[in-house]
Amino acid sequence: MTAMDSLSRAAAAPPWAGRGSMFSQPGLARPVAWASPRDLDQLRASHARGRQRRPLVPTSEASPRLGEELFARLLAYGTPHETHRGDVLFRPGDEDVDLIVVERGTVEVVRTETADVPAATVATVDAGGFVGELNLLTGQNTYLLGRVRQGGRVYRVPPERLRQLMANDVELSDIVFKALIARRELLQRSTAALSVEIVGTDRSAAALALRTYAARQRLIHLWFDADTQAGRAMMDSSGLTADDLPAVVMPGATLKRVTPGELAEKLGLSYRRSSTKPVDVTIVGAGPAGLAAAVYGASEGLDTVLLDAVGTGGQAAASSRIENYFGFPFGLSGVDLTGRAVLQALKFGAQLASPCQAVRLETDRNGDLLRLHLQGGEVIDSKAVVIATGARYRALPLERWPDFEGAGIYYAATELEARGCTGSPVTVIGGANSAGQAALYLAGRGSEVSLVVRGPDIATEMSAYLVDRLLAHPRVSVRCRSEVTRLDGADFLTEVSITDRTADTVQAQPCSGLFCFIGAEPATDWLTGIASGDDGFIRTDVQLAGDDLGPAWAALGRRPLPFETSVPGVFAVGDVHSGSMKRVAAATGEGASAIASVHKAIAALT
Ligand SMILES: Cc1cc2nc3c(=O)[nH]c(=O)nc-3n(C[C@H](O)[C@H](O)[C@H](O)COP(=O)(O)OP(=O)(O)OC[C@H]3O[C@@H](n4cnc5c(N)ncnc54)[C@H](O)[C@@H]3O)c2cc1C
Repeated sequence: MTAMDSLSRAAAAPPWAGRGSMFSQPGLARPVAWASPRDLDQLRASHARGRQRRPLVPTSEASPRLGEELFARLLAYGTPHETHRGDVLFRPGDEDVDLIVVERGTVEVVRTETADVPAATVATVDAGGFVGELNLLTGQNTYLLGRVRQGGRVYRVPPERLRQLMANDVELSDIVFKALIARRELLQRSTAALSVEIVGTDRSAAALALRTYAARQRLIHLWFDADTQAGRAMMDSSGLTADDLPAVVMPGATLKRVTPGELAEKLGLSYRRSSTKPVDVTIVGAGPAGLAAAVYGASEGLDTVLLDAVGTGGQAAASSRIENYFGFPFGLSGVDLTGRAVLQALKFGAQLASPCQAVRLETDRNGDLLRLHLQGGEVIDSKAVVIATGARYRALPLERWPDFEGAGIYYAATELEARGCTGSPVTVIGGANSAGQAALYLAGRGSEVSLVVRGPDIATEMSAYLVDRLLAHPRVSVRCRSEVTRLDGADFLTEVSITDRTADTVQAQPCSGLFCFIGAEPATDWLTGIASGDDGFIRTDVQLAGDDLGPAWAALGRRPLPFETSVPGVFAVGDVHSGSMKRVAAATGEGASAIASVHKAIAALT
């Protein structure tokens, strides 16, 4: 059916015309009604509610009322299907699910039963509404059941048609996109959150990794602390023991001792590609630089794949408050900033996969293509590759350091890491802005903070505004010319010893969290054959000397483009790039700018 067909049919006598006029009348029901959680659901949904951050769009946008002409435009992207009561339109585990537009009849969306909770209705969608949420864009498998409650007719809009809608119809795409985001927010607070239940202990590194992944992916899920009554009840009803933690309970599956990678695999968020066509650009690393490259690449029509070994957000997602990002005078959290960028990249059609680690890049082109190898053995062939793998935080060479990583030692200070130490004494190591921000954040949550700085003066590397706030804060004690020299604890860090180099004293003190910010190394251990500086950061364009440029360049007859490395068609941006500013704004600027060079490099291939 064409758009014209739909429009003329709508103009003649649309089957839902009886309800059509209601769309413009205030006070009448919206086409999607959300169920409110009950009993056990209510308890758990309220448990989830306290953990939420501010929604990106108002949840009232979840059930838009489309006018006749807009609704007809939406129908035109789908294909019609007659429905009967009881028909199943999608079920948990389905891949590549369609957006379903209800022209006549009613569809209900149900969270099916799991090992510990009975099924419950999440929403009902009447004529004039559409069924779907953000997983239509992220590629996550369906986790709910869609069933026809009252027969009629629906239009199925498959993923590629939805992408066309997003690209071609600004008015409609704004409404649909906002609804998908708002639904994700709403579902997270509803009984739907029970479809992925994560249980573990607050003080386990494996559980923290799982929760960090779930939070950064904005997964619909509910977290249970195994040490609480609700956690124990959930474990009992699912037949889980302490040895099984961390675990995930979902419809038809209970995953024990689960890693983020296994959860991603189960949810369909690992890398998979249906098209056999090579990718235009693969971006490795989804921090600010990679995300900016993905937004610009996808929005400018490049077939774009973005991978990250951990989850989206990069180091920026570890920042509780970024105050120097252009245009945000009151600051914003790194998770908020990068979460918005993820949505933007998805909207423009970029394919995101995580956790998904690149382990090798073949620098000899195979024809026009560069081959990237992933940890699971998959390969991606693409015309250009952007390396945006940033930098990794350094650790201290102390005995038991690896034992306490994630169990008292952290390289980030966000809500997730700080929760276990609220109000308890903590130690922050480092003399740059990231350490200063972390110290203020933790002190603001009621902790007594020892800020341990090796140098003689805190003002050497830190911005003046942070220094002033730290020195004035009653719960922060700044310890210059000092080092952490010993760690103690059983399964979890409980005490650190601080050596004062001026007084030549050692003091042991309680510590429920050690937050380490002592500089970074480039995340390039997976790369060979790409020119870098002595410090390992990747050199590009004007930083490359004649010796760095092999015979491939002579054949091309050109010099490297801005951000192009010593390998043609491979670009490096952000913190991994030699001489980069190590700031969010600089990383996003480089990621966006590199896309102009990617276009030129691809054009030169054909
Ligand atoms: C706590 C903290 C606070 C900060 N505060 C500020 C601030 O207030 N203002 C400011 O401007 N800057 C701040 N920064 C610095 C800023 O976050 C970084 O400069 C910025 O994130 C760099 O972006 P990037 O995309 O280059 O790299 P990163 O953010 O480091 O992202 C790199 C990504 O690549 C992924 N990756 C690495 N190797 C692989 C691989 N082999 N395969 C797949 N993926 C891989 C990583 O998982 C990571 O997600 C802060 C940093 C921290 C840690």
